[in-house]
Amino acid sequence: MMSDRELDAAVHLLMGRTWDESRCRVCGWPLADSSDEGCFPDDCCMRPPPARRADETPCYSTNPASAWQLVRDIQELHPGWRFSIVGGDRQMGYIDGSPSKGVDRSRRVAFGWRAEFFGHQDPTQCTGQRHGVGEGQTMPLAIARAALAALSSPLSYTG
Ligand SMILES: [Zn+2]
Repeated sequence: MMSDRELDAAVHLLMGRTWDESRCRVCGWPLADSSDEGCFPDDCCMRPPPARRADETPCYSTNPASAWQLVRDIQELHPGWRFSIVGGDRQMGYIDGSPSKGVDRSRRVAFGWRAEFFGHQDPTQCTGQRHGVGEGQTMPLAIARAALAALSSPLSYTG
């Protein structure tokens, strides 16, 4: 199975993200005409340098903010696509389905998350078209897996 960073890189590639060379790769600001005036290629003027380089692949599969930005970016690329996510980190339930009498914490089961991109390019059409589904133990992981599936095979089948 793919590591989180391999998944992030695969999604990033499918999003067709190429770096805008008029911007500083370290801090993301527009480059200046000379290194005296601001950032220049290989000479970022930000002090201290940012914790993450601007051209670094976002941590879609582990960072909730990056995952939600990915959902927004995908919906910008595919305006008819809708998105849904269900889940929770824990569900109060009983493994054996016995009737509940209070909550026995030791018998709670991990539930996880399920994310899905669906819908037609034309929003007036039916919504039954499924583009990609992803499941995972965390919300961003489910989103990143759904994004990979949807972006790898857009319109591959009709559910
Ligand atoms: Zn810079």
